Amino acid sequence: MGKKMKAIIVGGSIAGVSCAHSLTLAGWDVLVLEKSSEPPARSPTGAGLGLDPQARTIIKSWLSHPHLLDETTLPLSIDQNQATDSEKKVRRVLTRDESFDFRAAYWSDIHGLLFNALPETMFLWGHKFLSFVMSQDGSTVKVETLVMETQETVEIQGDLLVAADGYSGYCAWRGVFDFSGDENSETNNSVTLKVSQEMINKMHQEADTIWIPELARLMKETKEPFLNVIYDCDPLERIFWGNVVLVGDAAHPTTPHGLRSTNMSVLDAEVLGKCLGECGPENLSLGLEEYQRIRLPVVSKQVLYARRLGRIKQGLDRGGIGLEQKHMPFFSGAPLV
Ligand SMILES: Cc1cc2nc3c(=O)[nH]c(=O)nc-3n(C[C@H](O)[C@H](O)[C@H](O)COP(=O)(O)OP(=O)(O)OC[C@H]3O[C@@H](n4cnc5c(N)ncnc54)[C@H](O)[C@@H]3O)c2cc1C
Repeated sequence: MGKKMKAIIVGGSIAGVSCAHSLTLAGWDVLVLEKSSEPPARSPTGAGLGLDPQARTIIKSWLSHPHLLDETTLPLSIDQNQATDSEKKVRRVLTRDESFDFRAAYWSDIHGLLFNALPETMFLWGHKFLSFVMSQDGSTVKVETLVMETQETVEIQGDLLVAADGYSGYCAWRGVFDFSGDENSETNNSVTLKVSQEMINKMHQEADTIWIPELARLMKETKEPFLNVIYDCDPLERIFWGNVVLVGDAAHPTTPHGLRSTNMSVLDAEVLGKCLGECGPENLSLGLEEYQRIRLPVVSKQVLYARRLGRIKQGLDRGGIGLEQKHMPFFSGAPLV
């Protein structure tokens, strides 16, 4: 028997732990580098994730106690967004989906389920990925990582680097920085900005025409509103280079309106594991080509649809009424292998 191939996964959130499952099942040795100092506590972190039926089936296939997924999630059967014109006292539905077979969960619950089903030794907490180099023949990859506690740098070698390091950086920090008097500061490309009085007035006017009166009032009574920009990104043309592959938000950052990020991460992991398993270690590039061929068209369409849904859900695109979650490309299931 040949030597076992080793994957280094950067990022121990949903995409990272999902890949840890799928690659282990494909016969790989796996090491996960995560910059957070320790596994998250089981407190109800995050606003909530929506899991579609296909992602749930895949997650269950990775768990030795699949029923736990049903126990830690709740049905999410209607997804509705509506706008209210306070002046004319008229409400209109922006998007509504019924018989929406999703289940809602706290990020920490889903993460905990997936993480606890893996050996602890697979994870290096408090290890921040710094850089990588590929060997000249492209067969191995060397990763440089910073051990946060000791500030030492350590090199680790593997056959594949899986970038599951997300995109938004929300989890690291969220707050308000006062740039007044320092508008040209280099830090000023932060995602959270203090807003001007003019922007606040405009926001209050728009709130009156879009949101329900209670929310519009809450917005007016908020003393220090701030702006938190949510980014997506135009779909990439590639999601692997040599023996480096992107998964999850790192491969396709998306707005939250299509409830896609977590579902896409789980599907990426499943398809990657299956492609590598079927092509075998001697055909790594073929496996990665296959992963990209299957996933790229799906995630590209979903990211662009979520962007449009976001505009409609914010009352910004009236032409798109009728555009619903259930018309999301590949809503009823994306191709596997
Ligand atoms: C704590 C937490 C709570 C969340 N809650 C919600 C929620 O309630 N609702 C929702 O829709 N989405 C939530 N998300 C985002 C959601 O997990 C992702 O959008 C989606 O599941 C895709 O996951 P991901 O693993 O690709 O990216 P992410 O979840 O963003 O994870 C990326 C991981 O990579 C790690 N990382 C980044 N850079 C490095 C580095 N240089 N070295 C080592 N590690 C690195 C990060 O610490 C993080 O753990 C949350 C994410 C986190 C981390």
